[in-house]
Amino acid sequence: MYLSSSSQFMIKACLNYFKFCFFIFLYSVSHAQEDPVYILSNYLKIRSISGQEKEAGLYLKNLCEKFGLETTVLSDSDSTYNFCASIWPLNKKLPAVVMINHMDVVPANEASTWKYPPFSGTISNDTLYGRGAIDMKSLAIMQIFALKNIKETIQKEFIPKNFIIVFVSGEETGGINGAKITIRPEIISLLNPLVIFGEGGGGLRNVIDGKENELCFFVSNAEKKSLWLKLEATVKSGGHGSIPSGKTANKLLLKAIQKIEETEERIVVDRNAKQTLKALGNLMGGFKGFVLKHLNWWIFKPFRKKIIHSNEALQTLVTNSYQLTRIQNPTGSVNQVSQTATAYYDCRLLPNKSERPLLMKLLFRIVDPRIKISVIDESPEAEPSRLDIHYEVMKASILKVFPKAHVIPLLFPATTDNSYYRSIGLPAFGVLPFELNKSMIESVHANNEKIPVKAISDGIAVYTELLKSYTTKITR
Ligand SMILES: [Zn+2]
Repeated sequence: MYLSSSSQFMIKACLNYFKFCFFIFLYSVSHAQEDPVYILSNYLKIRSISGQEKEAGLYLKNLCEKFGLETTVLSDSDSTYNFCASIWPLNKKLPAVVMINHMDVVPANEASTWKYPPFSGTISNDTLYGRGAIDMKSLAIMQIFALKNIKETIQKEFIPKNFIIVFVSGEETGGINGAKITIRPEIISLLNPLVIFGEGGGGLRNVIDGKENELCFFVSNAEKKSLWLKLEATVKSGGHGSIPSGKTANKLLLKAIQKIEETEERIVVDRNAKQTLKALGNLMGGFKGFVLKHLNWWIFKPFRKKIIHSNEALQTLVTNSYQLTRIQNPTGSVNQVSQTATAYYDCRLLPNKSERPLLMKLLFRIVDPRIKISVIDESPEAEPSRLDIHYEVMKASILKVFPKAHVIPLLFPATTDNSYYRSIGLPAFGVLPFELNKSMIESVHANNEKIPVKAISDGIAVYTELLKSYTTKITR
């Protein structure tokens, strides 16, 4: 077949064009596989609801191995999958900077109210949507890429410590299948942690009076202790609703509830609270700042309550909370007097050893002895971490990426895996290393959980700075 020279030229040009397109395609595929946003999007697609983490674990383990990191499975059973990735093999037993993240997420019960399906990993308008986008799949990706950056830019001989990322299951269900396993003596001696960095506070604006536009990073060094109580009243009273009785289980329980509600709030300015109040007071300045720094002075006693109640974070810092979460009777008809009544309290206590016994003593004093008080569940006893060199390293790393920000220690109102490490005396600090706005915070455990793409690169930058600091002489 004869082809004119112009046709031959056209065919050649077309072939070259297709070759070029194919090359671009291969290039973008191989690069996408190294793009944290693409990887996080894929990770968000894995439905790793507590108890079903293994698929997510295998995905991340494979990724870490692709990046040349050492990996070790710490536990693998039907309901748990825990592993770690490190720069050095664990058998070297080097003291380690340990980063922790949990692979499990809470369910997305109201999936229909989501803008995009909760397990679609949709990227829209430079924002990633999906269950776990903030809590806390993004932090895992930030930690992995920071470790990858260090591996690629610093020669191993200049890394005198091990850098380990621990990926755990079951944080959302209390950490028994995850962090609790990793603090077993045989595993903790393998990890050999100097410090733990995990979830906790984050970068927020609109938190300091008079400095609404300034960015404040809260790094948690302590957590409230959770204590779940059950109060059960049992009274043998007349069974028919038509016979009035002053003494019923419901009335007895209601009286107890009323007494608990009427108990005067205790304000405890302990050493940990003082540190935070000092940082906040310095930042705030003026009379209010001065009062905050000296909140335990008797002269300021009359102002205390007003100041504390003006700010939720302040209230958390110096008071216990007792939340009545449910009241129950066994099922029955309206004309049946219930013989038992039960109330449940979610108490969040300041992290001092004395708070739990003090609360129990108070309850036994004010509640009718016919009411049985029992503890259903509680978080481990964990003292606050001191604001030591590791806190300072995290603070400096945040400031390198956000030079105008303020960094303040935080008493986290809920319990996370960090408490397990604090309970065995290890320093643990929690921060999401990026800026969070109101709608991001509101999306955690709710619908439309999301993270902007910029937050991912910011977080990687903070964690890279953090790890870099541990390769210098200052912290060696
Ligand atoms: Zn979490």
